[in-house]
Amino acid sequence: MSFVESEERQALRKAVGELGRKYGHEYVLKAARSGGHTTELWDEAGRLGYLGVNVPEEYGGGGGGIGDLAAVCEELAAAGASLLQMVVSPAICATIIARYGTEEQRRRWLPGFADGTVRMAFAITEPDAGSNSHRITTTARRDGDGWLLTGRKVYISCVDESQAVLVVSRTEDARTGKLKPVLFIVPTDAPGFTYQRIEMDIVSPDYQFSLFLDDVRLPLDALVGSEDAALMQLFAGLNPERIMASSFAIGMGRFALAKAVDYAKTRQVWKEPIGAHQAVAHPLAQARIELDLAKLMTQKAAWLYDAGDDMAAGEAANMAKYAAGEAVVRAVDAAVQTHGGNGLASEYGLGALVAASRLTRIAPVSREMVLNFVAQFTLGLPKSY
Ligand SMILES: Cc1cc2nc3c(=O)[nH]c(=O)nc-3n(C[C@H](O)[C@H](O)[C@H](O)COP(=O)(O)OP(=O)(O)OC[C@H]3O[C@@H](n4cnc5c(N)ncnc54)[C@H](O)[C@@H]3O)c2cc1C
Repeated sequence: MSFVESEERQALRKAVGELGRKYGHEYVLKAARSGGHTTELWDEAGRLGYLGVNVPEEYGGGGGGIGDLAAVCEELAAAGASLLQMVVSPAICATIIARYGTEEQRRRWLPGFADGTVRMAFAITEPDAGSNSHRITTTARRDGDGWLLTGRKVYISCVDESQAVLVVSRTEDARTGKLKPVLFIVPTDAPGFTYQRIEMDIVSPDYQFSLFLDDVRLPLDALVGSEDAALMQLFAGLNPERIMASSFAIGMGRFALAKAVDYAKTRQVWKEPIGAHQAVAHPLAQARIELDLAKLMTQKAAWLYDAGDDMAAGEAANMAKYAAGEAVVRAVDAAVQTHGGNGLASEYGLGALVAASRLTRIAPVSREMVLNFVAQFTLGLPKSY
C-alpha cells in the first residue's frame, strides 16, 4: 500500500494543471457571465487525451482508471478551470458503456469519449422523485421494433452541449408487471425530446435543464446493458460520479484556498500581513486539513473502484463525497472572509464560488442521503424512510 501516487499520475496532474492555468478562472467566469461555454477548454483537454484517460486503450483512450480521471477533474478545478460535465460524460456514461454496452455500442461511442468529441449528459433526477430514485416514472414501452420513452427530468447538466443523454427510466417486467430500471441512450435531436434551461443562481458556464420526453422513439439498441441488471449497472456509473464530484469539490477548494493564502500573505492593514492573525490563519489551516482528508478518502474510493471492489468503493465514494462537500464549503467561506469586501467583488471571483461550492453538498447525492447510507449500511442502524 502506498499513499504516494505513481509518477505517471503525478505527471498527469502537472500537465493538466498547466492546461487549466492556461485558461484560468477568468476565462470560465467570462464565459459564465456572458451566457457562453468553455468549449475551447473542453476540446483541448479532449485532444490531449485528458478526458479519456479512463477509456480502454482499444477504443482510443488512456486505459487508466477513475483515479486518473478524478485527478484530471481535480487539477482543472484547482486551476479555476473546472469542467462540470467531466463528472457525468466520461465518468458515468463512458464507464457504463465500457462495462455493459454491446461491442457495437462501445465502437460507436467510446472513441468519441476518448477524445472528448462525444459529450453525453446523464438524467436520473425527476421532479416528483427527487432523492428517491425508486419513484422515477419515466417509462419505456416496447413498440414494434423499438421503444417509446415518455417522462420528465430536472436539473440535467450540459444538455445543450451534448449529442445524447443517458436516461434512467423503467420498463414493465413481463413476469411481475412491476416497473424496473433501465438505461437508454437518447440523442438530443430525437423527435419528441425537448429541453428547457433552468435559471440558476450559480455562476457557471455549465447550464441545467428540464427534459421532456414525449413518446421518443428509440431503436432496440438504444438500451444499454441488461434489462434485468440495471441497478447494478447504474451503480457502476454512480460511484465514479461521486468520486468525480469529490475531486471537483476538492479542486475548487484548493483553488479558493490558494487565493486566500496568497492574499493573507500580502494584504496588510496593521503592522503585519493579515495572515499573521490566527483568526485569519486558522480557518485556512483547517480548510487545508479538511481538503487533504477528503482527498485521501477520494483516492481510496477511486483505488477500490479501479480494483473492482464495487461494494467497498460505494461506501468510500459516499464518505468522500460527504467530506469533500463539507470541506469545499468551508474553504470557500474562509477564502471569502479572508478577502474582506474583496471576497464578494466580481474582480476576485470568489463570490462566484459560493453557490458553486454549496452545490457539492446537494448533488449528485445530498449530504443527508450520504448520512442515511452510512447510518444504514456502515453502522447498521434502522432505516427511517
Ligand atoms: C447544479 C445541479 C446540477 C445537477 N445535475 C444533475 C444531472 O446532470 N443529472 C441528474 O440526474 N441530476 C442532476 N442534479 C440533481 C441532483 O442530483 C438533485 O438535486 C439531488 O439529488 C437532490 O434531489 P432533489 O433536488 O430532488 O432534492 P429532494 O430529494 O427534494 O431533497 C430535498 C432535501 O430533503 C433532504 N431529504 C430528502 N429525503 C431525505 C431523507 N430520506 N432523509 C433525510 N433527508 C432527506 C435532501 O437531502 C435535501 O436536503 C443536479 C442538481 C443541481 C442543483
